[in-house]
Amino acid sequence: MALDIHTLRLDFPALAQSVNGHPLVYLDNAATTQKPQGVLDALNHYYQSQNANVHRAAHALSGQATHAFEAARSKVARFIHAPDAKHIIWTRGTTEAINLVAYSFGMHSLKAGDEILLSTLEHHANIVPWQQVAAATGAIIKVIPLTEHAELDLTAAAALFSTRTRLLAISQVSNALGVINPIKELIALAKQVGALTLVDGAQAVGHFPVDVQALDCDFYVFSGHKMFGPTGIGVLYGKRALLEQMPPWQTGGEMIRQVSFEHTSFGELPFKFEAGTPNIAGAIGLGAAIDYLSGLDRSILAEHEQSLLQQLLAGLTAMPDVHIIGRPAAGAVSFIIDDVHPQDLATLLDMQGIAVRTGHHCAMPLMQALGLSQGTIRASLAFYNTADDIAALLAGIDKAREFF
Ligand code: PMP
Repeated sequence: MALDIHTLRLDFPALAQSVNGHPLVYLDNAATTQKPQGVLDALNHYYQSQNANVHRAAHALSGQATHAFEAARSKVARFIHAPDAKHIIWTRGTTEAINLVAYSFGMHSLKAGDEILLSTLEHHANIVPWQQVAAATGAIIKVIPLTEHAELDLTAAAALFSTRTRLLAISQVSNALGVINPIKELIALAKQVGALTLVDGAQAVGHFPVDVQALDCDFYVFSGHKMFGPTGIGVLYGKRALLEQMPPWQTGGEMIRQVSFEHTSFGELPFKFEAGTPNIAGAIGLGAAIDYLSGLDRSILAEHEQSLLQQLLAGLTAMPDVHIIGRPAAGAVSFIIDDVHPQDLATLLDMQGIAVRTGHHCAMPLMQALGLSQGTIRASLAFYNTADDIAALLAGIDKAREFF
């Protein structure tokens, strides 16, 4: 089946606009993706006709809202192949999901001398919460180094695992470099020493199918807004036995069974971890994004994205003053240009309607390890990008060069 990208793009109203007098070329998808009309309609429909609080279904609207909200949870479970919806905890996003695990599991279960294994490629969201845990518990953070190709060094990683390792927290795809990490191998190493595993899938779920049971990770986290859903909604998947053992993190309404001034008993999974009124519209919107993706052949979308990635890499490689960082394999390409500050280039590209991102990409330790004090320029893809988008970026770089 051939892919008609130009027809698919019509599903994304935000793509059909001009910016600074030029048709928008949106290459900042690793930061956030645009939303299909189906997601916008789902948000609108909820607020226009179903708006009510959930799980207090004394009236029709509340029943409808609860049904739609819980149906979205089931869609997420199917989307990542979790055994059932009880394994799916709504969060504000990847950051909050990692904080939930850090505070509920990390703060309560780790002790002085326990080790948390991270990688040099991690986003700050998968570093800072663990530093807080380490500071409070005396646990130690160890970091998997990079090879000369800016990929994780598996040999060095193997040597870092020991019986002291309690948790491996690792991204599936690097947001800064578009590198796919060998998480299957790393999860296997973690299992050999009895360590738990958390996978940050923020940059994975929008690009290829994920199966948490095949990965056999203990926790998997991601954000709705990077996979064509709304902002403010994300997911923590956890293995049931672990989630059952973990204490609640935030407490208050919705997450309880029985409250008195002497004692509170907590609700069952997943509600135990969902204090307060949730982002109902966001969850329903994420369900609509999953419906949208499920209606497409994702292997064809991935092939199309790969061809764009190869086109971009070939175009950049042909520019002698451009240096691609690492070996991008999914979604994002980071590069620098001799004697050009990334921010200057981004400004000149923006004047041509081309949206890219510059800087440290919330991965300062990575930039430090690579000696990139000014950060990089990052172009990041989604399936709705076209060969024309890539050509526009390459031409835009040439045009910007005239100013330098
Ligand atoms: N991890 C990775 C790999 C990311 O790319 C991002 C977002 N850039 C995050 C975590 C944090 O996601 P959010 O801001 O949606 O919580």
